[in-house]
Amino acid sequence: MSNKTKSYWEKMIPKLNFSSRAIIDGKQVNAASGQTFDCVSPIDGRVLTVVARCGSEDIERAVAASRRAFESGVWADQAPGERKKVLQRFARIIEAHADELALLETLDMGKPIEDSLNVDVAATVRCIDWNAEAIDKIYDEIAPTGKHELGLVTREPLGVIGAIVPWNFPMLMASWKLGPALATGNSVVLKPSEKSPLTAIRLAELALEAGLPVGVFNVVTGYGQEAGEPIAAHMDVDGLVFTGSTAVGKHLLSTAALSNMKRTFVECGGKSPNVVFPDAPDLDTAAEAAASAIFFNQGEVCTAGSRLLIHEDIRVDFVDAVVKAASQMHPSHPLEPGASMGAMVDNTQMDRVMNFIKSGSDEGASLRHGGEKANIEPNGCYIEPTVFDNVSSDMTIAKEEIFGPVLSCIGFKDEAEAVRIANDTPYGLAAAVWTSDLSRAHRVAGKIRAGSVWVNYYDGGDMTAPFGGFKQSGNGRDKSLHALDKYTELKATWINLAN
Ligand code: NAD
Repeated sequence: MSNKTKSYWEKMIPKLNFSSRAIIDGKQVNAASGQTFDCVSPIDGRVLTVVARCGSEDIERAVAASRRAFESGVWADQAPGERKKVLQRFARIIEAHADELALLETLDMGKPIEDSLNVDVAATVRCIDWNAEAIDKIYDEIAPTGKHELGLVTREPLGVIGAIVPWNFPMLMASWKLGPALATGNSVVLKPSEKSPLTAIRLAELALEAGLPVGVFNVVTGYGQEAGEPIAAHMDVDGLVFTGSTAVGKHLLSTAALSNMKRTFVECGGKSPNVVFPDAPDLDTAAEAAASAIFFNQGEVCTAGSRLLIHEDIRVDFVDAVVKAASQMHPSHPLEPGASMGAMVDNTQMDRVMNFIKSGSDEGASLRHGGEKANIEPNGCYIEPTVFDNVSSDMTIAKEEIFGPVLSCIGFKDEAEAVRIANDTPYGLAAAVWTSDLSRAHRVAGKIRAGSVWVNYYDGGDMTAPFGGFKQSGNGRDKSLHALDKYTELKATWINLAN
């Protein structure tokens, strides 16, 4: 727990400069239409600021600025070691603004301030640093030819990247795109979610302060249809990287295909299985981890362990232990030190989650904990951590990505059934398996169709490993050196040495 009190944060709020305009070609600009939308805090429903509501004309300006910056070579042609220095400065400046950025994130989307600080800001800094550090250590290749020719295999930046990101980890998801895109020399047009635009705008301002050339990193704020769609359909955007729902991800793949076949990578939803065998090393630890796996960030996590698969021999006691852990995770005011859950992002999402809870009860699952809104602040968006037992795979709460604090407990009789249920989903983002049997851990991890599998913990990993989904959880990978591939084209250059 941090030593910063709620009143420390509250005193900071009036001093915040809520930058709320788009950043195009190094300047803060209003939407060409002059339109704005309200940026509402889910903590208590207050309007924080009004934000530029960008549309096609603004996207045209932002893409043109990105293209000019890219073609000028002011960034793309810098030596990797020079780009590294700028990005490292960017990371240091983000670090120096940690409190401000964390507060903006929490006010904007409702997560506990300590998570904003210790997870979102910290991981954003790490991501920018990591990509900066990597970029001057990667070599191109020479093809294994005979003496008569030389084959150079090089990587070149794509050019203009459109990045469209969600609201659950606004700054972090943006940085997973920005880090590798900028390190490899591209220019970027970033569109944050309309539900959480504030930190993206601030990041662009801080990047300019760090010395990133004008036009290399632009931010357009606004709604998906109005500001996102024109990026996806744009004929002069070379690459599109997206994190968000599977429905929008699929739509963007087709938009990209029907326009200029821009390279398109989508990181989408999940319905991740967390599989507990009776021989888990410590069942109490596993139960606490199962609660955190779904309730962290109010359940608004793509990898949330939303399906808890429990061996029938231990199910009753294990669900009791999960309920006990859930009862200690009641939502609080997000600026309260030690808050484990904050507010849902907005009323729409809260109502959507409440409808899923109703469907769980209507379809016959046993509500063991929660199931109600929590009254933390008038006009706030809070939901109690909710646990359903006796869930079957055909129920809506077991099939749909709820993106809220709702856990579905499902029993299984043996390993084969556990694997079958785990894979009974169109998603394939993540999974966990709890067992002391090394062979079983390998077997089950190998059989579950998911991009990340954790053994005897949940949500492990760092920048060093690729992150992304199998099946309809998406394509491509964020993080690690593999992510750099998405932002570059491979070129083969052949030189005739015969003369
Ligand atoms: P969303 O798909 O509704 O929106 C994501 C972004 O796409 C937003 O910026 C939105 O404005 C934009 N958008 C919406 N419609 C668009 C359109 N027609 N054209 C262009 N852009 C459009 O998702 P969300 O509700 O913001 O985020 C939640 C989703 O994100 C969940 O499904 C979650 O699993 C997923 N997610 C995935 C990962 C991952 O790495 N796989 C990480 C975080 C979140």
